[in-house]
Parts: sequence; structure tokens; C-alpha cells
Amino acid sequence: MKVFKFGGASVKNAAGIRNLIHIVSQETDRLAVVVSAMGKTTNALEKVVNALFAGDESAAMAALEEVRDFHYNIAQSLYEQGYRFLQNKIDGIISRISSIINKEMLLQTEGHPTQYDELYDQIVSFGEILSTTIISVALNREGIVTHYVDMTRCLRTDNTFREAKIDMHASAELLQREWKRYDFPVHILQGFIGGTEDGRPTTLGREGSDYTAAIVANLLEAESVTIWKDVPGILNADPRIFDHTTLIPRLTYYDAVELAYSGAQVIHPKTIRPLENKHIPLYVRPFADYNATGSVIQQTTPKPIDVPVFIWRKNQVLITVRPKDFSFILENGLNHLFDVVCRHRLKVSLIQSSAVTISVCVDNSRYLEYALQELQADYRVTFNSNLSLLTIRGTTPEIIRQQTEGKTILLSQTTRHTARYVIVD
Ligand code: ASP
Ligand code: MG
Repeated sequence: MKVFKFGGASVKNAAGIRNLIHIVSQETDRLAVVVSAMGKTTNALEKVVNALFAGDESAAMAALEEVRDFHYNIAQSLYEQGYRFLQNKIDGIISRISSIINKEMLLQTEGHPTQYDELYDQIVSFGEILSTTIISVALNREGIVTHYVDMTRCLRTDNTFREAKIDMHASAELLQREWKRYDFPVHILQGFIGGTEDGRPTTLGREGSDYTAAIVANLLEAESVTIWKDVPGILNADPRIFDHTTLIPRLTYYDAVELAYSGAQVIHPKTIRPLENKHIPLYVRPFADYNATGSVIQQTTPKPIDVPVFIWRKNQVLITVRPKDFSFILENGLNHLFDVVCRHRLKVSLIQSSAVTISVCVDNSRYLEYALQELQADYRVTFNSNLSLLTIRGTTPEIIRQQTEGKTILLSQTTRHTARYVIVD
């Protein structure tokens, strides 16, 4: 069996869904198809959550109507006729979201609001439920017999809402049972979402559908995973930023994890490990060009990457801490600092130290201010935001000069093959 994954950009409109059907229909192996929320639906549902959390029921309802209309439009352009049936399905899901809104408003008036992260997962998880519902109807109508898998039941996680950890053992049992019981050629699964043992929905972190695809492949022992994307494959730089880019046809798991961690947006950094564990190759192929081969990530490749690779990780914050008493931070402060960073779920992208300071570059996040407050109690803390981290692999002095000339660099770090710069945007 194989796993196919389609991201939000691939299913942002009716044409995308038709193309998905075409790709799936070409396949003769049994397929697990993992799908993200359509287009920017996750962002749109975040608006619903934020309005609701702020106690603004009408703004939450208005944001929800936008989500509904976006899906109505797709359903309508998919089928002029038979649209009603899909519309009813969409209505059913939207009314489940409105009941959550109503219930939450009540809880708030009683003084017991739901915690933000839990509320987020209750609502945002519906993006993938909407997309997979519409797509499984569309596949079935084309005669592709599809089983809809409810990942809030089949992917078991803990209750770290918004960044849930997967219980591999329980999920293996649940998914394998579903896979055996429903001997259908195509199973359709929501990316990004799971559920706790007591039935509460969870999410795995933004852009987490790739990770779902890798987990599903690992648990069902798939022969391969293919991520269908709106790029030709893995490129040496982001084509939105660089004029000239080169396709990297083959790379190792190690290369891929380094690229993804540095901020290359082609795949989610957590995707590689579950695949590497079982030596499952990952293909990244262009959604719009079925005949192109794209890139493959696997254990070994005959040839190392022979072009320089450029990766921009945006929205970074550089934090430098110094003990108030001049003690050596590497001896005394390291545990404490990283304990704070981990508890507040900050994602560290770079670390550098001197005798009495340590600097960490982290992704900006809503938890940052709490971490800073805690650090300020014990250290002198300086920080800058609105930064980017530029990573260049396979670099030369000339390339570095070209890329960094005229830029304000707050920190640089070079190792044998890699140069990294924290740059003011
Ligand atoms: N829909 C989720 C998000 O936009 C997951 C994903 O797209 O991978 O973050
Ligand atoms: Mg998405």
C-alpha cells in the first residue's frame, strides 16, 4: 500500500479536487490518502477561535459563515447538480461548530471558559473534517470506492492541545483494525488531527499533515509516501524569494531533516523520523504535473547534493540572556534556560554562547512573552524580533558575500559546510 498526501494548496478549489481524483484514479495499489484543510481554512478557523475566546459570539459566527461559504462555493463549482447533497453535509459540520460556539458562550458566562489550546483544537480540527468529507463524496461519485477514516478516533494522542503527542502503540492498533475491517481500495484520512482516549479532538501543530502521512505510513508499513505539492519537488531555494532555483532529485533523510529544520517549507520537520525508522521513501511530486518525477528522500543516495541550498526561516526572535551576577552561563544556567524554553514550547532554531551569555534564536509565538517574563526574573535579557534566519549549505565565500551584502546581521555562525545568519528583516 502507499500513502498519498495532499496539502491545503492542492485542494483549494474544485479544479484541485478534480486533479486529486485524477491522480488517485491512476493508482492501482491500495491507498491511504491524507488530506489537509482546503486552502486557508485553518487560518479562517483560527479567526473563529480567537473571536470566541475573546467572548465575541457574533464575530465568531461571522467568521464561521465565511468558512461555510468557502466550502459551499467549492461544492457548487464541483457539481452544479447534486450540490444539495454536499451542501447538507457541509451544513451538518458547520452546525457542530456552532454548537461548540453556543456551549462555550454559556461556559464563559458561568465563569468557566475552556482553555485556549483546547478550544482551538475543538474548532480548528473541523477544517480537515470538512475537506475529507467533501473529497470522499467526490471520489465516491467518480466510482472510486472510498472509506472515510475518522482520525479523531483512529489517531490516538495525549492531551497536549495544539501540539499533541501521538501514542504510537494505540494508534497502530486503531489504524490497522480500520484498515483490515474496511477492505476498500482507498481510505481517506484527515491530516493534522487526532483525538485523546476520552474522545477530545487534538491537533499536531501547524502544517502537521505531512507528519500524519509519515505516521500512517509507519504504522501501516507502507511501501512509500508521496506528498503532492505546488512546487516541482525539493528545490535548493524558495522560488518565491529566489529567481533561479534548481530541483534536487535525490536526497537523504539526513539532508531532508536538516533542510526542514532550517525552515525549508517543503516538508514538516517531524515527517522524516517515522519514515527513516522503517526505511520508507518519501516522494515530493508536483501536483500540477503528474508525469514529472519530483524528488525522492531515502536512506542513501548515489550522489551528494551538489548545489548550494538557501533557506530562510522567517519570524524569528533572538534572545540573549546573561546571569545578573556574571556567573558562567554554560556551567550554571543552561538547564534552567532550556527548561524555560521547553515549557513555553519555544522552537529553537539556533544556539550560540560566550562566557557569560547565551543566545537562542526562536520562532516567534504566542508563548514568547511568558518565557521572556520568566527569564527576566533571573537574567538580564535582551531580545530582537522581526528577524530571519538564513541558512546556506554547501557555501563559498562568494555566495556568502552575495547573500549577506548590505544586510544587518545580528549573529553569524559558520561550520564546515553551513553558514547561518540572523538578519534584520
Ligand atoms: N491544515 C493544517 C494547517 O494549515 C495542517 C496542514 O496544512 O498541514 O496548518
Ligand atoms: Mg494547511
